[in-house]
Amino acid sequence: MQYRGKFISDADIIKDLFDGENYQRLKEEYVTIGGVPQPHKFFSDPRDIALGLSLDGFCPFKRRSQTCWPLIIFNYNLPPEIRFLLRYILCVGVIPGPRKPKDADSFAYPLIVELLEFLAGISTFDVEQNALFALHAYLVAVFGDIPAISMIMRMKGHNAIFPCRMCLIKGIRVPDTRNTTHYVPLYRANHPTVTLAPGDNAEVAVYASGNLPLRTHKQFLDQARHVQFAPTGAEEERRAKACGIKGIPVLSHLPSLFFPSSFPFDFMHLIWENLLPNLILLWTGKFKGLDEGCESYQLGPGVWEAIGEATKASGSTIPSAYATARPQNVAEDSSACTADSWSFWALYLGPVLLRGRFQKEIYYKHFVKLIKLLRLCLQFEMTKEELTEVREGFQDWVETFERSVIISQLHTNNDLHFVRIYYQNSPDRVSTCPLTVHALLHIADSIEAMGPVWAYWAFPMERFCGKLLRHIKSRRHPFASIDSYITAVAQLEQIKNRYNAHDQLALLPPKEANSREFAFDECKPSCPCASSFSHKCID
Ligand SMILES: [Zn+2]
Repeated sequence: MQYRGKFISDADIIKDLFDGENYQRLKEEYVTIGGVPQPHKFFSDPRDIALGLSLDGFCPFKRRSQTCWPLIIFNYNLPPEIRFLLRYILCVGVIPGPRKPKDADSFAYPLIVELLEFLAGISTFDVEQNALFALHAYLVAVFGDIPAISMIMRMKGHNAIFPCRMCLIKGIRVPDTRNTTHYVPLYRANHPTVTLAPGDNAEVAVYASGNLPLRTHKQFLDQARHVQFAPTGAEEERRAKACGIKGIPVLSHLPSLFFPSSFPFDFMHLIWENLLPNLILLWTGKFKGLDEGCESYQLGPGVWEAIGEATKASGSTIPSAYATARPQNVAEDSSACTADSWSFWALYLGPVLLRGRFQKEIYYKHFVKLIKLLRLCLQFEMTKEELTEVREGFQDWVETFERSVIISQLHTNNDLHFVRIYYQNSPDRVSTCPLTVHALLHIADSIEAMGPVWAYWAFPMERFCGKLLRHIKSRRHPFASIDSYITAVAQLEQIKNRYNAHDQLALLPPKEANSREFAFDECKPSCPCASSFSHKCID
């Protein structure tokens, strides 16, 4: 619990959430409750606790659309090697399904009330000092998949006109279709619905990847209030559409959170469950019914199937330290691949298996550049120079994904040779630019504000959901079954703490003393385990 208090920040290296700008800024600010300043600053006592909230939609059963939404808390005062272990995760509730909750804030409300009490301080006994003190705990990070975070931020979501929680880029639709999803390419000058004529309605023709219209905390909450206090329902909906926010989120009552920077994009869902599978769909000609337009990025017949076979065959020669499970045939049933297996495939197998498989090398180089950037992001520690490399690298990667790039210039006649790759600046192909591609442009900002990507990714939540799955005892009433399990575990913990009966009431043998699960001291950034905390080390 003293890890945070003893943490020494280095101005040139980002190695945990406490190196992020948000935490550093909080340390300089006085705590406010309902706008009233308190006599103490955030984290002025080494015993103050930093908390992170994670939420995610999770399906109890395969092939069903029912979802429920666990709310779990991480204790950042614990050192990274144990912070994300299941035994240290606090589950503060599971929003039951089967449908998405209409009012998620009502489920978060009891938690917010308790967190507000922690702002003032709760009288606690310090065993070392043999004295009572005011214990403070502050929620500093909220993360999960895009729909869950949109829900808790009270945003309209990733298909809305303003779908990005980090910036005010305006979404555009595929022309002449009934598809209501909005996409967010940087370039939209030739889109039929974009008004370029000078005047009040003039829209942006090309967003600069390094100069996006970022949302600020004040602007976000001003817009939320503007929507919430609309005089009529119709006006409320009009205002909500104009900014992508549906109302004031209950989390805005916590002064330790900054909107939107305290809500960083989760790397696991963004990269391994969206970006990479979408790239593969593009290469195999299965992406939303699109052909390859004026380019030739699709793999030839049978190539992807051969790559799938080679992936499976590679399992017999890969040391088990590199992965928890043998690689599966990614071409046979890609929907069965987990984020972990996609991560392993992309980081270790993809660059080898795809070499020489595209008709033009530019597509391969574009993919390899992505992998290099992801490897930089996945390090335990990152220097400020590497952060700049990540920022500029993703800007270049997204621009190359979307816009025309010059790959050669024939000086003899000044002809330019363009490669446009996926979007090709074509309005009909705008669906190649979903929010998950645009969000790459915000990764560097998230690292700068909140620390390395491993500090707020969803792998621990996935493990927690796996644990919940094993305790569903009723197929007819799965949500009641989950709730009874969560309540029973919480009650048991209270009894253990109250009567100091941890050994007598332990339901499972103590595994962690001999656990081979990831250990920080044993794993350096060069270790293959750096790709995911869910990997296990072989010692
Ligand atoms: Zn954005």
